[in-house]
Amino acid sequence: MAKLTKLDDIVALCKRRGFIYQSSEIYGGLASCYDYGPLGAELKRNVRNAWWKTVVQMRDDIVGLDCSILMHPMVWKASGHADKFADLVTVCKKCSTRTRVDHLQEKPGGQQEHTEHVAIDAEEAKEHNLSKKVCPSCGTVGQFNKPMAFKLMFETQMGANVDDTMTLWLRPETAQGIFANFRNVLDSTRVKVPFGIAQIGKSFRNEVTTKAFIFRTREFEQAEIEFFCKPGTDEEWYKHWKDFRFNWYLNLGMKKENLRFRDHDKDELAHYAKACVDVEYKFPFGSGDWQELEGIANRQDFDLRQHQRGMRTMNAWYETRDVTKLQLKDEAEDWIKGPLSYFDEESKERFVPYVIEPSAGIDRSCLAFLVDAYDEDEINGEQRNVLRFHPSLAPIKTGIFPLVKKDGLPEIARNIYDELKGCFACFYDEKGAVGRRYRRQDEAGTPCCITVDGQSKEDQTVTVRDRDSLKQDRVNTAQLKNYLRDKLGL
Ligand code: ATP
Repeated sequence: MAKLTKLDDIVALCKRRGFIYQSSEIYGGLASCYDYGPLGAELKRNVRNAWWKTVVQMRDDIVGLDCSILMHPMVWKASGHADKFADLVTVCKKCSTRTRVDHLQEKPGGQQEHTEHVAIDAEEAKEHNLSKKVCPSCGTVGQFNKPMAFKLMFETQMGANVDDTMTLWLRPETAQGIFANFRNVLDSTRVKVPFGIAQIGKSFRNEVTTKAFIFRTREFEQAEIEFFCKPGTDEEWYKHWKDFRFNWYLNLGMKKENLRFRDHDKDELAHYAKACVDVEYKFPFGSGDWQELEGIANRQDFDLRQHQRGMRTMNAWYETRDVTKLQLKDEAEDWIKGPLSYFDEESKERFVPYVIEPSAGIDRSCLAFLVDAYDEDEINGEQRNVLRFHPSLAPIKTGIFPLVKKDGLPEIARNIYDELKGCFACFYDEKGAVGRRYRRQDEAGTPCCITVDGQSKEDQTVTVRDRDSLKQDRVNTAQLKNYLRDKLGL
């Protein structure tokens, strides 16, 4: 049970230090919704920025996008979500708790099944034998109702007048905004296949079961790339993206022993996917610990072809304005030359690009980085909690303290703070014993702290204490900015 305690410790630390709070807590909280506090907002922004920097800024084959959350309902018809984005769920006959069938276990610690959110039909439901499965809520074995599909998209209404009100969905993934803008990006930029479009943004899913703090919530942030390539080169790009994304986590300090790939079995793959792999992290909860952090899929040309079908169906949509009553038109015979195809100037070939999709969760990454960084050790017989964040993720890069609150030391420390705050997220603190101030920063994950002491007045030097090694360097204040740049690699 030690591992469970670890997640509890992290939840407690997050609340105590202002990383993450329960949403609407003053009204009793809203299930599965969380707010990021002052330190959490910085951490989350740093995770987003680290992703954007390696994926967009440092690559010349990827451009960014920021699409609206509300989109035309035909987007979700064409993508398949309007008809099929559902989980297979069952209800316990004893306690009435609704659970995802693929989350039911035979006994504590047993393996879960793995399924994607995909089309669920009666045939599939019959295949699930629930006679040995345990209700996660009351523990009753094998007493479940017939599995049913539970739709995951949140519905909302748009429009002020009764006759032009339209039912829309909050997007359940950011990817479709990218496909819907594929033509726009081609026509307005100089990109050439192979290239990718990246986006970070909120997604919404009315998840059946939410769990484990910010691991699975109903509102969450995704970071997705759709990488368009020529059919035939897709396997090479799939491999490239597997390595690239795995290394992203490692380069941000995640421990290798806590990360692994899990290839999807053939029967687990969505019908359009040629291959799919999860990057999994060893989270301190759940059954086998290992849980999905990011999915990477070879989706072939499924999405662009589906949107070509959607575009062909638009006339029918104007008649009903209700996608649930619509049948998507079949593909045109010359779909390969359709509006979302690509003409390769060099080879003079036209094709519908294949897509490799690395799809990560920002909140889930934040949780993994928190878990990975969390440590407890002892200094001079005193226990400390420390978050060993990579410097680029640390919410505060350096704490700045006068050793005592007198003798002109606060003024010197304030000047240093004013000098550095334009370059690094800094925190000035003059309250309480310096040891306690160090420990507060250790718990916030601050990589180093600067202390101004009596000697600083004599020789313009300060001490810089390292969070992990606890070593103290004496540094001239004139050199501080460069010293920190080198030390933090920022
Ligand atoms: P699962 O099967 O666990 O519900 P999924 O395979 O449907 O997830 P994807 O659609 O592949 O998830 O989403 C890509 C990424 O988005 C996930 O790897 C995860 O990091 C993040 N994500 C998906 N759903 C949620 C959620 N409800 N809360 C937080 N993050 C999520």
